[in-house]
Amino acid sequence: MADPKGFLTTDREVAETRPVGERLRDWNEVYVPGSLLPIIGKQAGRCMDCGIPFCHNGCPLGNLIPEWNDYAYRGDWATASERLHATNNFPEFTGRLCPAPCEAACVLGINQPAVTIKNVEVTIIDKAWEAGGVTPQPPERLSGKTVAVIGSGPAGLAAAQQLTRAGHTVAVYERADRIGGLLRYGIPEFKMEKRHINRRIEQMRAEGTRFRTGVEVGRDISAKDLRKRYDAVVIAAGSTTARDLPVPGRELRGIHQAMEYLPLANKVQEGDFVTPPITAEGKHVVVIGGGDTGADCVGTAHRQGAASVTQLEIMPRPGEERAANQPWPTFPMLYKVTSAHEEGGERVYSVSTTRFEGDEDGNVQWLHLVEVEFTGGKLVQKEGTGRRIPAQLVTLAMGFVGTDRENGLVEQFGLELDERGNIARDAEYATNVSGVFVAGDAGRGQSLIVWAIAEGRAAARGVDRLLTDGHSDLPYPIRPTDRALTV
Ligand SMILES: Cc1cc2nc3c(=O)[nH]c(=O)nc-3n(C[C@H](O)[C@H](O)[C@H](O)COP(=O)(O)OP(=O)(O)OC[C@H]3O[C@@H](n4cnc5c(N)ncnc54)[C@H](O)[C@@H]3O)c2cc1C
Ligand code: SF4
Repeated sequence: MADPKGFLTTDREVAETRPVGERLRDWNEVYVPGSLLPIIGKQAGRCMDCGIPFCHNGCPLGNLIPEWNDYAYRGDWATASERLHATNNFPEFTGRLCPAPCEAACVLGINQPAVTIKNVEVTIIDKAWEAGGVTPQPPERLSGKTVAVIGSGPAGLAAAQQLTRAGHTVAVYERADRIGGLLRYGIPEFKMEKRHINRRIEQMRAEGTRFRTGVEVGRDISAKDLRKRYDAVVIAAGSTTARDLPVPGRELRGIHQAMEYLPLANKVQEGDFVTPPITAEGKHVVVIGGGDTGADCVGTAHRQGAASVTQLEIMPRPGEERAANQPWPTFPMLYKVTSAHEEGGERVYSVSTTRFEGDEDGNVQWLHLVEVEFTGGKLVQKEGTGRRIPAQLVTLAMGFVGTDRENGLVEQFGLELDERGNIARDAEYATNVSGVFVAGDAGRGQSLIVWAIAEGRAAARGVDRLLTDGHSDLPYPIRPTDRALTV
């Protein structure tokens, strides 16, 4: 146990953010570099000897949180990093981007602010990189077996790293021009600087993982060819089909899916463009969808110099306290102020878009909306509440409905889908096709990075068992049917 009285003597403190005016002028992460280090030991010391650490269940990776809190409190950063990597391949991603369902399940959180688990996690891994403690771990011997991983998001990367370390020869196929999936082209630089992905890829290359970018399985290489070349396949192709908004005026110029808009801003940071082909500069921007993807559009539009930014959400504003049907230790739906929301803009709840109106050149100029309310368990429009707001750039951030069906991947492999349209899998992440596994959003539906890593690790174990006659030393963190205390 860390400090037996820490939770009594120390208040919760979190990473300090840079002033809004400063961070809107650049794309770097919003936190003050180094602000956690002086406080984090004491924060880790707030972890109490609670007996049953519910945080283990809150975290889909089953991270060994009390153990590494203890090492962080004692300043034994090397052992803390070793315990952190025991369950998580990429803590620098989750430590920056995870919504931290572990903190919602923290026992201290029953009647006090929870331990700052996520901040401890990111400090341990940042210190480990800084100290040269994150080194390649190539396998001692090769199995002679080969695996293709389709998709290089967190699920594909986790599966590939586990399987490479188990001795298999792994190639990751990615249709985009760079590795990383949504970590690279969805999540903006101000939430996670891409250097964190680049150094992990260097580590993975040094361990023996091979990467093939610009290759779309289904189009550039058929499923049949891939199956001939490899002993097993992991599909980690994500859930990239965006939900659309088929209302009148949808065809006007200036209305884009979030994932048409955000990657271009990331490509500017990669040095591909000086100005993005779609920009919010000088425009009244409306973001439809109140979730994290929407918040990323808000932060991006502010940095591009939008005239105004309005985020619309059809559901009512969530409460600031747990609702009775979301008790501790479950992950509650609460009103969140993300760093993007701190930076400005307006959030409007309980509204539905009815149509778009354009100018004579076909450019969107106005968005018409109406207020909605729940009546008889259904959302209905409130009479007389229609109005229009200026909208010269509209981004649609209303979620994703499944893996890409246009490239033929699902049909060529002959994969069955589940009732939600995701790729069906069993408890070992195996699909209906022998030797083909699925991990991350492709099987789970739109979710979180922490789940993608957990599933990539678990699917790797299923593959390893297949390739080594039923024996695997790889850990099996979570089954798709397990219900962690999380979203
Ligand atoms: C804008 C945005 C912000 C988000 N922010 C957060 C956040 O802050 N925290 C969080 O926890 N989660 C966040 N998420 C969700 C999170 O990013 C995803 O749950 C996670 O990335 C899923 O990982 P994955 O590996 O399954 O798929 P992805 O990251 O989607 O990667 C799939 C990859 O497969 C590639 N691919 C697809 N088909 C093929 C093919 N046929 N051949 C070759 N390659 C293919 C795609 O190009 C892509 O690179 C966010 C999502 C979005 C859209
Ligand atoms: S990965 Fe997420 S849930 Fe797990 S310990 Fe880190 S912040 Fe918590």
